[in-house]
Parts: sequence; C-alpha cells; structure tokens
Amino acid sequence: MAKIASPPTVLREIDGPEICGSCDTPGLRTELVRDPFIYGAGEDAVELAVEIPVHTCSYCGSYTGEEAADIRHDAVCRHLGLLTPNEIRELRGEYEMSRAAFATLTGLGEATIARWERRAVIQNVANDRYLRLLQNPAIFLQLKALAHPEASVDAVRDSVIAVPHVLQLDRAKEYRDRGVGFSLHEHAA
Ligand SMILES: [Zn+2]
Repeated sequence: MAKIASPPTVLREIDGPEICGSCDTPGLRTELVRDPFIYGAGEDAVELAVEIPVHTCSYCGSYTGEEAADIRHDAVCRHLGLLTPNEIRELRGEYEMSRAAFATLTGLGEATIARWERRAVIQNVANDRYLRLLQNPAIFLQLKALAHPEASVDAVRDSVIAVPHVLQLDRAKEYRDRGVGFSLHEHAA
C-alpha cells in the first residue's frame, strides 16, 4: 500500500510578495506551512517534512513557488546523504573557480555541474564522494597537479605552502627530478 503523507500544517504568516504572481491581484498572503511529502516508492518510501512558503490569492487560491520546490529538492539531497546544490556551489566558491574552470580541473562536465547546482538533477553517490574529497584542500591541490602536469614545480610548491605534508612530497619529487639521491634513511642518519 502506498504511503500517504501527513496533512500540512500552517505554522505562521510570513513576509512575501504583495501581488499575485499569476493574476496581479494585490493583497497576497504568504504563510509558512509544514508540508510533509512522500519520497521514494514501496518499502523505501519515507515521509520528509519541509517548511515551505505558501501564497494565497483571493482570486487564484493557494499555490507554492520555486522556493518551495528548491526546499523539497534540498530535503531529498539531505535524506540521501548527498551534498545540496548550495554546498556544491560553496565548494566551487571556496576555490574561487568558475564552472568552466572547475569542469576542466575535475573532468566533470560543465553542463552536469550546472544541472546539480540548479537543482535539475541530483549527483550520484560516486560523484558526491568525489566532491566531498575535494573539500579537503590537500586533495584539491593533488588534483590540480594531476590536471596541470605542465605547471612548473615552483608554481605547485608555492600553492601548497600551507599544506606541510604535501610540501614534503613535492620536495621529494624535486630532489628526484634533480637526480639528488634522496631517501628517508639518509635523512635519518
Ligand atoms: Zn491570483
């Protein structure tokens, strides 16, 4: 038997647009409504509760806008244990990268990243884990070195100055490149 969501509950009146979006009638009322919905099917179906703004027009009746759809989308992401679109955007923002630059770096499609950030689709678990790994600056820098092997050793070293263990690895590579006999044993002596 299909699960049926609990009925919605009006929580309180909140600020919203003055005029109805579809008929331009003034006096639009907006309320915050707890509106549970069923996500999934069969055994996996769960009820997810969200609080969404509901507008009521004296002419059109009650309706929800894009904001409500976004809130439901984010609730599904959290339920699935996946990053929300804003969290993906923030990750990219942390490194001050455009979508195009992030796509080049990660090998992900620019259009794919845009679809995740615009809530058109939800990333799969593999991609979600990839994105979460990139939240670690040391891993991000490792990826940068992978994506731009032509970058000079100096440039990479400058960029990892704040990450000591990566710096050490990088030095080891530099010694190797120079043909310096480098081993842990020599240093330990
Ligand atoms: Zn209306």
